[in-house]
Amino acid sequence: MTKKVLKFGGTSVGSIQRIAHAAKIVKKEHDTGNKVIVVVSAMAGTTNNLVAHSQSISKKFNKRELDVLLTSGEQVTSALMAGALNDLGVKAKSWMNWQIPILTEGDHTNARIINMNVEGINNYLSNDGVAIIPGFQGVSKSGDITSIGRGGSDATAVAIAKIFQTDSCEIYTDVDGVYSSDPNKIPLAKKIDKISYEEMLELSSLGAKVMQSSAVQTAMMNDIPIQVKSTFTDRKGTEINSQENIDYSKAVTGVAYSKDDVKITLLGVDDKPGVAADIFEPLSKDQINVDMVIQNISADGKKTDLTFTTKRQDSKNATSLIKNNKKIKYEKMHMNDKVSKISIVGAGMVATPGITYKMFRSLAEEKINILAISTSEIKISVIIEEKLTIDAVKKLHKTFNLD
Ligand code: ADP
Ligand code: ASP
Ligand code: MG
Repeated sequence: MTKKVLKFGGTSVGSIQRIAHAAKIVKKEHDTGNKVIVVVSAMAGTTNNLVAHSQSISKKFNKRELDVLLTSGEQVTSALMAGALNDLGVKAKSWMNWQIPILTEGDHTNARIINMNVEGINNYLSNDGVAIIPGFQGVSKSGDITSIGRGGSDATAVAIAKIFQTDSCEIYTDVDGVYSSDPNKIPLAKKIDKISYEEMLELSSLGAKVMQSSAVQTAMMNDIPIQVKSTFTDRKGTEINSQENIDYSKAVTGVAYSKDDVKITLLGVDDKPGVAADIFEPLSKDQINVDMVIQNISADGKKTDLTFTTKRQDSKNATSLIKNNKKIKYEKMHMNDKVSKISIVGAGMVATPGITYKMFRSLAEEKINILAISTSEIKISVIIEEKLTIDAVKKLHKTFNLD
């Protein structure tokens, strides 16, 4: 007998019919004799609607209350999933975050699961029941409701796999696996049969929302293989697992993109030691992450230009910290939020020379200007104009033989 966690995403539980369909998948696993824990997301669109409601009440909606509000969608689908299973003659019961409890640490809207009580649920599984657990939800040590970041039901599933020591962790979603790029935007994208944790982590952090990045990180740290598959077809999905399974023959595994960044340029900054540190110190104190940095060499040794990128949501705060920073002098500040970040990812990159050149050359052929660059061992990211995003992804997809 195996113990499994099956997670169903928002589209997979997006209507009553779909919940009934997902329940049939669960029943099949249960009828085979498996112990099944089900994790559900809110119905597709629900969490976004709740965010919109909070914003129409107040632009500064309290984060504690936001967690109470946003996690409500998962309560609805948990009960409906339990009801659908009962209707199929399967013993099933839902537990909310505070009932288990799913203990979290960290800030509201961005907490981390640190533990869960397994006893009650394990007993229920041993007595032939299916346990339904809401994704995304947590509870803090002080008893407040928390949420674990958007797309967080993936992280709930991986945390359950770890804490309940399940034999498998299956992510059911609306595509039949991880592709070389978003299959809904790049029709020529190909399904990847196996991908390493490292590559998946890069792809997720750089915009491939098919898996949430913190879920992949937990899976990697604890060596928990993940299967990504479709709720709507029986096709074989993608397996995310350890290093040994990396295909080094291919330099690039996938192309990801995101539109979360802004580019900020300071013109006419003093060119002397310590200036960059002075610029970034208040940002770092305010937990604002700076991603790419480019500093030009000044012609006269006096003034230079400095460009960096950060998340769009932090842009207002970042620019006002710079404006109010008495330690620095600059002539002008320029912000561009009509940019996107395009990244190629592949573990085989380390062993293949010329990938950077090939990427830049192929973007140049499309007349796409590169505004900033960052690299690591297994990825290269560039900032380009937002309106050229899909053209760039398509071109790179072709250049690296992913079509
Ligand atoms: P769920 O609601 O099941 O969690 P998400 O919407 O979070 O599903 O993630 C699935 C979506 O991720 C797909 O519909 C697809 O558009 C998008 N996606 C982005 N990049 C990729 C990729 N490389 N492979 C597969 N899907 C991707
Ligand atoms: N419902 C939450 C969200 O939309 C969590 C999830 O779907 O994974 O972010
Ligand atoms: Mg998701």
